[in-house]
Amino acid sequence: MEKLKTVHSPLVTYFSVISLLTLCPPFVILLWYTMVHADGSISQTWDYFNQHGLQGFINIWPRPTATAWKIIGCYAAFEAVLLLLLPGKRVEGPVSPTGHQPVYKANGVPAYVLTLITYLGLWWFGVFNPIIVYDHLGEIFSALIFGSFIFCIFLYIKGHLAPSSTDSGSSGNIIIDFYWGMELYPRIGKSFDIKVFTNSRFGMMSWAVLSLTYCIKQYEENGKIADSMLVNTALMLAYVTKFFWWEDGYWNTMDMAHDRAGFYICWGCLVWVPSVYTSPGMYLVNHPVNLGTQLALYVLLAGILCIYINYDCDRQKQEFRGTNGKCLVWGKAPSKIVASYTTTSGESKNTILLTSGWWGLSRHFHYVPEILAAFFWTLPALFNHFLPYFYVIFLAILLVDRAKRDDDRCRSKYGKYWILYCQKVPYRIVPGIF
Ligand code: NDP
Repeated sequence: MEKLKTVHSPLVTYFSVISLLTLCPPFVILLWYTMVHADGSISQTWDYFNQHGLQGFINIWPRPTATAWKIIGCYAAFEAVLLLLLPGKRVEGPVSPTGHQPVYKANGVPAYVLTLITYLGLWWFGVFNPIIVYDHLGEIFSALIFGSFIFCIFLYIKGHLAPSSTDSGSSGNIIIDFYWGMELYPRIGKSFDIKVFTNSRFGMMSWAVLSLTYCIKQYEENGKIADSMLVNTALMLAYVTKFFWWEDGYWNTMDMAHDRAGFYICWGCLVWVPSVYTSPGMYLVNHPVNLGTQLALYVLLAGILCIYINYDCDRQKQEFRGTNGKCLVWGKAPSKIVASYTTTSGESKNTILLTSGWWGLSRHFHYVPEILAAFFWTLPALFNHFLPYFYVIFLAILLVDRAKRDDDRCRSKYGKYWILYCQKVPYRIVPGIF
């Protein structure tokens, strides 16, 4: 078994791991409670806790009900069936440090389209009303918190007893193993890829499904949808549509190719994505702000532009690597560094690093439009409350940390070649500043 290393110092690692394990679950409930029952106002929730103390918190934490479990069960089963049965072309993922190459079936787009059509169809034909999901949201999040925790224990046990590939390892510490995960590519059987299911088909898909749910809830409550909600939903759907369009590119990213299946990535995608990532829409349900056509259009266009640039950064790198540098980047032959590295099995390999186009502006420029897009789909909430902006702030912190983790990992993988890249492209995220 490969020994797993952490990039931060042990003290920082333990502190952040324990904090996240204990604070994230109650935060999800607090966020939901404040958005749905306290007008999105932190001070209103604060007053409630001042009056009712810890018992008040226990009282507001919804118990997972049978309805919640049924909704989650049907949704998860539907997505699992689509993942397994829908046809798609065979795609090879990146070669892992141990020389293993995962193979995927690219059926994300049909799964996405079928999910949204089915959900809207169930509503339209009166079979299932999405407002039931909104009305049981607290119970659903509560069930997800506990259910996903148990699922992560399963991942931990599987990582120890029955890893699916050679890409599995232990840090020697039970908490770190549970948090960061042990297996890079866990599977059930040959073709059910657990991370594709948790990250894409459950997590990212739930983002689109819940965005529609919030829109429908506002429509059923008020008989119309405010332009703020329309802009928010259109941008979040555009982002998720882009994600599924490019899902085979996602299989080359850090989430899939470097982060192991544990609490961080799997619990994050099963719980944090549906609750926190969708939260600006959750807020707007009870705040049907009217922006006016002109402002609404400007915000929509700015958001679409950011989503497009973010997509184009990812596409540029993918095309560059996929064609082995034989492509045009911004109309010119790309500038590159040929970097060699050694796999954990001692094999020497070469790869190329793009140093022009978006990847010549800064080493993680794609995070800039990612954060700005989130800002633009939150902007329709205007500035009456801080909480709708929590996701943007969280995302900025996450991506700054991620850029550091990625730089550290690439420096240890590529050594002098990465140092050369840093000399050629000195800024980490924001060109000229950071
Ligand atoms: P990347 O897709 O940027 O993957 C980083 C990897 O790319 C590096 O580890 C390295 O891997 C390779 N690489 C780095 N620099 C170069 C270069 N110059 N040329 C060629 N290859 C290079 O990272 P992310 O997974 O963070 O981002 C993927 C997408 O997901 C982005 O659009 C991002 O914005 C989005 N994202 C969204 C999040 C959210 O919560 N909303 C969270 C995280 C990401 P190798 O070992 O192959 O060399």
